[in-house]
Amino acid sequence: MILEKKLENLGRLSRFDVTGLSRFFGLRPYLKDAPFIYPAVGFKGRCVNLFKVLQTNLCRHNCFYCANRRARDCLRLSFSPLELAKLFLHFYKKKFVDGLFLSSAIYPDPNIAQENMYITLRIIRKADFQGYIHTVILPGVDDYLIKKIAVLSDRLSLNLEAPSERYLSKLSPDKNFKDQLLKGLEKLSCLNRERPLKAGITTQLVVGAAGETDKEILSVSTNLYSKFSLDRVYYSGFVPVKDTPLESKPPCSPIREMRLYQADFLLRRYGFRLEELVFDDRGNLSQGCDPKLAWAKTHLDFFPLEINSASKEELLRVPGIGRISCERIVNLRRQKRISNLEDLRNTGTVIKRARDFITLNGKFYPSKKKMFLSLREEKQLFLWEEL
Ligand code: SF4
Repeated sequence: MILEKKLENLGRLSRFDVTGLSRFFGLRPYLKDAPFIYPAVGFKGRCVNLFKVLQTNLCRHNCFYCANRRARDCLRLSFSPLELAKLFLHFYKKKFVDGLFLSSAIYPDPNIAQENMYITLRIIRKADFQGYIHTVILPGVDDYLIKKIAVLSDRLSLNLEAPSERYLSKLSPDKNFKDQLLKGLEKLSCLNRERPLKAGITTQLVVGAAGETDKEILSVSTNLYSKFSLDRVYYSGFVPVKDTPLESKPPCSPIREMRLYQADFLLRRYGFRLEELVFDDRGNLSQGCDPKLAWAKTHLDFFPLEINSASKEELLRVPGIGRISCERIVNLRRQKRISNLEDLRNTGTVIKRARDFITLNGKFYPSKKKMFLSLREEKQLFLWEEL
């Protein structure tokens, strides 16, 4: 009974840590009664079920947005390492989960909290579990502990939470942006360089709680990708929690979260530079139009592109042509000239979106209707990276 309570609560509370695009795509826990099993959508839309819990929700910090903050009156629970390891292995053997995502609040101090996580992982690995483990590194943890955990993990993350000290002070006043968070990420990055982790390192930013702009967020992400070789930056839209200082603040719109992910894709995988993205006067992306289409509409001189002669880099700039369809177009061109929309459609190109920006054998096929997709279509497309 007590274990069930711990599983339910510490699983539910771990939802604030983002492991993929799950929350944005509205994916529910794998089983209705199992809020500790989450499908995480990774690259290329692959979905894995993660056993996702906190080791404890006892916390010495008082972050303004967090359900686990010290001053909040709520049920406090902790797993012993053996308890948690046994539970995970039980669900793994039953084939309900493929991997583990382990996080924790910080109590009584970062080293003790992280040591408990380490012991949990060690028991799991000793039981011969070879699968995926993502471990969250807590801010302020000693280096020796990070190294020990890295050996047992496929992916490490440390949450930066905000794009700068100024914004962090509005969310987590006890934490130090440079010395704890940024330095912590730098350490993970060095470790990853010396002994690469299978699934690299990631971080998470809370969006919409501190007044930061999309441009500030994406500027930090760009730096993190280039300086620390991060695998992913996750954007966690702020959700107000009852009985916290930010409870009356409106939640971050899911569309804002999606636009950030779309822009992030353009920066990481489509060869776009931050300066090329279109921001409004306040430094935010358009919510009504995806960032690639927004760029195309402000660079009409770049279009129309002839599909049969455009370079790969040029093709990737066309709305509706993603990385997979771009490859298919290049392969098809080796066999024949592409001269009709049907051939192009068969490459996976989204014709509805692309037709205003291309020619086929010199012929232009403009759309009669507007080129916007519904939000549902956009989400679907995004899973396949066909922006
Ligand atoms: S450190 Fe802050 S964000 Fe993390 S669990 Fe504690 S209160 Fe929540």
